Order: sequence, then C-alpha cells, then structure tokens
Amino acid sequence: MTLTPATSTPQADAVIVGAGIAGLSCATRLADAGLRVVVLESSDVPGGRARSWPDPSTGIDVDIGPHVLLNKYPNMLALLERLGTADQVCWQTEELLTVLDKGRRLHFKVGGLPAPLHYVRNLPQVLRNVPLRHLLSNVRLGWRTMRSSPQELMTLDNRSGRDYLLSNGVSPGFIDWFWASASTAILNLPVEQCSAASLMRLLAQALGHNDLAFGFPKVGLSELYAWPAIGSLQRNGGEIRFGCAANGLHRCGADIAGVTLAGGTRVEASAVVLAVPPTAIDSVLPRQHALTATAARFEPSPYISCYLWFDCVLSGARFWARPWSPECLNTDFYDLSNIRDGATGPGSMIATNVIWSHRAAELPDQAIIDATLEEIADFVPEVRQARLVGAAVHHIPMSVPCARPGIETSRPAVRQEKGLFIAGDWVDTGLPFCMESATRAGALAAEQVLAERGITAHLALPTPVPGGLAKWLRRSDGVDGF
Ligand SMILES: Cc1cc2nc3c(=O)[nH]c(=O)nc-3n(C[C@H](O)[C@H](O)[C@H](O)COP(=O)(O)OP(=O)(O)OC[C@H]3O[C@@H](n4cnc5c(N)ncnc54)[C@H](O)[C@@H]3O)c2cc1C
Repeated sequence: MTLTPATSTPQADAVIVGAGIAGLSCATRLADAGLRVVVLESSDVPGGRARSWPDPSTGIDVDIGPHVLLNKYPNMLALLERLGTADQVCWQTEELLTVLDKGRRLHFKVGGLPAPLHYVRNLPQVLRNVPLRHLLSNVRLGWRTMRSSPQELMTLDNRSGRDYLLSNGVSPGFIDWFWASASTAILNLPVEQCSAASLMRLLAQALGHNDLAFGFPKVGLSELYAWPAIGSLQRNGGEIRFGCAANGLHRCGADIAGVTLAGGTRVEASAVVLAVPPTAIDSVLPRQHALTATAARFEPSPYISCYLWFDCVLSGARFWARPWSPECLNTDFYDLSNIRDGATGPGSMIATNVIWSHRAAELPDQAIIDATLEEIADFVPEVRQARLVGAAVHHIPMSVPCARPGIETSRPAVRQEKGLFIAGDWVDTGLPFCMESATRAGALAAEQVLAERGITAHLALPTPVPGGLAKWLRRSDGVDGF
C-alpha cells in the first residue's frame, strides 16, 4: 500500500478526520455516492481501536485486542458485504458461549423456543451452580424490561445498574454471579458504576432474540475492513493521508470550510466529519465549543490484551469466558488457532482480555503473563506442560467510553451544525459503544452529509427489534433502535 505524503491541499466534497471503523464506514459510503472524499488519520495505520498489525516477535497478525461481532450487527455486516470480506468471519452457531464457573463448564445455548423462553434449555446446568430463588429474582425485572419502550429504558439513565437491579428485587447473589460479569464484559465497567439504561437495553436485546451468535474475525481487523475500505475509497477517487492530524476547523466567515493541519496547511471541504473518539475532540475543536465539554464527560475504560503462542496445539475451543471477579485478571479467552484457518503458527495462539484493567495497571508484563497462564490452565490444563514460545501484552488506554449514569442521554447527535458532523461509537446511535455503533454512526453521518447536498439516502440500518414474546409485550414509542 503506497502512503500519500501530507503535502498537497486538494479541494474535497468531504473531509473525514479519523480512519477508525466510523470514519471508514462514512468515507466508503460517501465515495460510493460519488463524492470526492479525503480521509485524514493522525496515526501511520488505519483502524483506530479496531486495528491489527504483525507482532514484531512472531510476525503473526495480532489485533489491538481480540474482538467479537454479533449476528445483530447489521451495519457492520453490510459494510463487510460491501467490501467483500463477510466470509472472513467465523460464526459460532452451535452454542452461544462456554463459561468456566466454579470449576464447571457451562455451555450456554440459544434457539428452540421463542424468545425469551430460549434460555430455558440452559436451566438444568445453571441450577447446579445457582439456586433457583436467585434465578427467579429476575422475573419482575425481565417482565418490566420486555414491556418497556426504548424511551422508557432511557429514563433509567441516571440510576446505577446495581441500584436498579436491587430495586427490582434481583438478589445480590445473582447480581454478583451474572450482572457483574455482563456489565464488565459488554459495557466495560462494574455494575455499580454503569448506567441502568445501558444495562437494561442489553437485557431487552438478549431477551428478544433467540438466535444470537458470536462471530470472530478469521483475519486481523485491519485486513477485515480497514485496508479493504481504503482500497474501495481509492478506487472511487478518494484519498487517505496517514500521519496527518487535523488540529482545527477552517471557517469561511461562520461557515465550515474544511480543517487545518499542523504547519498551517488546510484541507478545504464543505463538509467535515469528525470521526475521532471523545478523548480526541479537543485536538480539533476549541475548548469553548459545546461538544468539547460534552466529550470531556466520556471517561475511557482501559484494557490489557495478551497474545500467547505455545509450542503445541492445546485445545479445540474457540472462545470461553470466566465470570468477572476482582481477584482475577482475564474474562474472555480466544484460541485463535481454531478461528484463523492456520495463520497462527504451528501451536496454539491464545488471546485474552483484561477488561476495566485499572487493577493491573501497575503490574509488570511478566506478572500479567504468569497470571494469564494460570487462568488459561483452569480451562486448558495442558497449558502447564506446553512451552510458551512468544508473548505480547498490549496496554490499551481506551476500549470504549464508560457507560456511566447520565452518559446515554449525553451522547451527541451526528449533525452538529451546517457542514459539521461527528461519527464514532460514542455518538447517539441507540447502541452500546462497539464496532456496530461506530459503523452505524459512520452511515448516519454519510446520510446527513448527502442530505445537505439535497440527496436523500437511507444508509444506516436500524437496530434489530426484539422479537418473540417481547415483540407482543413491548410498548412502542416510535423510536428507532433500542
Ligand atoms: C481491546 C478492545 C477490544 C474491543 N472489543 C470489542 C468487541 O469485541 N466488539 C465490539 O463491537 N467492539 C469492541 N471494541 C470497541 C471497538 O473497537 C470500538 O468501539 C470501535 O473500534 C470504535 O471505532 P471509532 O471509529 O468510533 O473510533 P476509533 O477506532 O478510535 O477511530 C478514531 C480514529 O481517529 C484518529 N484520530 C484521532 N484524532 C485525530 C486527529 N486529530 N486527526 C486525525 N485523526 C485522528 C485515531 O488515530 C483513530 O484512528 C473493543 C475495543 C478494544 C480497544
């Protein structure tokens, strides 16, 4: 791939700041619609928080940290279809996931009965680990959530997840067993600190789909979407510049007229899309801009991801999880040798995530690797006999912003003013902070850019509406998504 040096100042229809999945989703759609698009990326590589690179010691592609997709990611899956890489996702359809709990492997399956009864088939094994009264303590919460419209769920935004669960009669034992893990794994912060609205929106989705499935990229994330999106952009006459940070807006009078770069250069365009995370908004917008103050409220949730290579094949599993516990580090484990069609070396390549990793921030990498090996051994005891032939520990300042109380209702709209748009997982997409939210935000931003040019386009796909019994129970308020 040839990189274009950041010297010329082209006239563009739209300039997109940031080549993460949101920026590339927007750029691909605008270039498809015939607009001249320039993408600026401050880093030397594309992909942002969903990127991959060849590991320097093994030469094998590693992601910033392992990522999963859901079959309820319509916008991301449509983007992959458009880019011709949808077949590079390995879908786990035989079971939803395996959880190692109190030394037992719980194999959670979905399908069969209509939602939410599809979980009933898991009862016999779950009851060996959790008393029935703890499970039953969720009935009122489940009923109430299935009845609620999206708008009603948003009114819970000022309450913490734990507080709301307790007030609905959920037992503290079940909160510690299930909700603490769900909050950490999906919202990336503890249940005491998360927004009840974010948590209940997840519950509404989980209760409303009896066909949920996880998908795992068979290639590095940059190969899955970033480089294919850039190839498509360039074929459509678009341009991407790496190592090129925008540092301000360029205005003609009051009107948006492009962005400025270091050294005073500018890229002129009638539409500017800021597809940067909330932590980088102040690198482009002035301190007094309203969006800068909003963005400052979005606190990063840090991760540590480990990649470990072994001299032999250790397991046939693709993915397993452990319940969240303050005493342990990792919660999710991926044996990429069983996912990536042989591109991981001769032995097993296992990747793991330490979510909300504040507790491990001061640990040396070797201590993180040792603890991770112990945690893998709980599921794959053969690891104790294997030789570790390579290891990489990635310290990641932000996976996603924390869904703290009040954050859902602070998420900004895509259109900020005439000519200025934002995209990214954190804008108001009706979705948790994730790749689907970022992709949808990119599509929404593209729709708005086109609308300002008088072109009507329906590019963003709606969030799948909960089905099964939830479909009949749910009150509708006409709001798109959940
Ligand atoms: C370890 C990890 C695991 C995750 N797991 C999952 C998962 O399993 N499933 C899931 O759906 N999501 C997951 N996520 C979240 C997902 O990666 C993010 O939600 C998504 O990638 C955000 O994309 P974005 O385009 O909004 O932002 P970003 O990826 O942050 O992209 C923004 C881009 O803007 C660039 N930029 C910033 N400032 C400037 C500037 N001034 N000028 C030019 N460029 C600039 C940045 O360099 C970056 O490339 C995970 C994230 C991490 C880190």
